[in-house]
Amino acid sequence: MSLTLHGIGIGGGVAIGHAHLISHTDIEIAHYTVRPEDIAGEVTRYDSAVKTARQELEMLWGSIPDNAPTELGAFLSLHIMLLNDHTLSVEPREIIEKRKCNAEWALKLQLDALLAQFDEIEEEYLRERRTDVIQVTERIFKTLAGHDMAMHTPAPTDRDSILVAHDLSPADMVLFKDSEYTAFITDVGGPTSHTAILARSLDLPSVLALRHARSLIHEDELLIVDGVNGVVIVNPDERTLTEYRARQDEWTVRQAKLQDIRTSLPVTQDGIEIELFGNIELPEDTDQVLENHATGIGLFRSEFLFLSEDDLPTEEEQYQAYRSVAEQMAGQPVIIRTIDLGKDKIPKWQEESDAPNPAMGLTGIRLCLAEAQLFRTQLRALLRASAHGKIKLLVPMLSHVGEVKQTRRHLEEVKAQLRAENIPFDEQIELGGMIEVPAAAFTVEHFLHHLDFASIGTNDLIQYTLAVDRNDDAVSHLYDPVHPAVIRLLHHVISTCNRVGKPISMCGEMAGDPALTRLLLGLGLRRFSMLPARLLKVKEQVLSTDLAAIQPLITQLLEADEIDGLRQVMEQLQA
Ligand code: PEP
Ligand code: MG
Repeated sequence: MSLTLHGIGIGGGVAIGHAHLISHTDIEIAHYTVRPEDIAGEVTRYDSAVKTARQELEMLWGSIPDNAPTELGAFLSLHIMLLNDHTLSVEPREIIEKRKCNAEWALKLQLDALLAQFDEIEEEYLRERRTDVIQVTERIFKTLAGHDMAMHTPAPTDRDSILVAHDLSPADMVLFKDSEYTAFITDVGGPTSHTAILARSLDLPSVLALRHARSLIHEDELLIVDGVNGVVIVNPDERTLTEYRARQDEWTVRQAKLQDIRTSLPVTQDGIEIELFGNIELPEDTDQVLENHATGIGLFRSEFLFLSEDDLPTEEEQYQAYRSVAEQMAGQPVIIRTIDLGKDKIPKWQEESDAPNPAMGLTGIRLCLAEAQLFRTQLRALLRASAHGKIKLLVPMLSHVGEVKQTRRHLEEVKAQLRAENIPFDEQIELGGMIEVPAAAFTVEHFLHHLDFASIGTNDLIQYTLAVDRNDDAVSHLYDPVHPAVIRLLHHVISTCNRVGKPISMCGEMAGDPALTRLLLGLGLRRFSMLPARLLKVKEQVLSTDLAAIQPLITQLLEADEIDGLRQVMEQLQA
């Protein structure tokens, strides 16, 4: 039966392919011995994970909407039944006791045994229940792990594979960058979560926040993923397939047409020159920036070097990474952001944060100033690499001017060290600050006294201005880049920087949204930094905009209120 699911579309057109569910085999499961005196506690931990999983399923079952497909209820009851079965509720406890192992390992052993039995079954209906067993155990694994599961990249089959996951962490997405999926869909995730940003950077059709996709979709089912409208169709009929194949072709033709402006300079109709930069996560993304003829790199999220490895990268490893980007860009500016870990980006070597609210905790520059050794090692690597190209530094999460001053002190001390060691670096290296906390936006002129340039991080600025967690799909409808408060803040920051003559750019997702290009141009922004996949779409907007002509609309927009004027003015701006 065909089924349509709605979520948040991340763009990238339409994909048609077969579902590949992230399954238990993709989960890295820890194995350790439990001391005899701790066995009872481990059994209790397992019991309570099963209990939580059961409660979650019962809650889901109780909240099934009236118009939901009848299968949904049947699936959930089956899952509750499996969870209650002694193979999952009792036998893993016995394994813990007998083998003196941790609960995860006991569950893994039990699952392997169950799956081996399923493989023997000839009857198709029963064999299909294998997926259900995997899904139920995954729920227990997840509860045991306290949510985030580490995953390995599963190899896609030779057909078009669509990755179906409950959730993907930024670290998982880094692994998936090398895989060959044609689309991604997940149950959770906000529109500017790092998962969404990475999915967008792959320019694959992706839909997030589908809620129950992981439990409704079976391995290998045919899916249509419409990343533009945020729709996933499971087991589409022939007519729907034909329609979406036509849309896919249209998309491909449009993408090909965009290539015509690849080498054109981004200049508005009335002759204003605009600079378009690329955002990268890893050195290998530089190719895409070059292919799309960007002015330079406006944001290298250096913390991704720290996410993909088991250990902290050494100074030498960092130096090589920064140097390779600087050299590839051959003198074009490369803005490297200092480590922005914390929040949702937790490296493997760092303990899971127990901060009550990580987004407001020790993150970005706060973490770097608290961990001076980590910071100085990075500054050394960055300075050394600055001898090989036009590197500029960018500091994330500023909220106090004192943080810039402290950063400058560290920088000067590291420079002095390098001078003493006769190691070359760029003496004039520029230091910029990210404006992504409302406090820094309101008082940007104070920060500008100590900075060479600024870059607006709208992903966080919107999150903190509107008090909407960018990763939480439950409030994603409130995450609004054109909320009047956001527009006014942006206007204040951009006009202040323009007035005092300090370069200002924007590197949040807003900068790469072609529907917002005219708004930002009208607010006075001249430097945009975005995922390379967005460069041509934004350039297309720049080329078709007459800045003088839209200025009256911008004046109106700055006065408009959220309900009445604003949406109409936005529509006129796009016309
Ligand atoms: C931002 O907050 O807009 C930004 C560019 O930084 P990140 O998305 O990495 O937090
Ligand atoms: Mg940010």
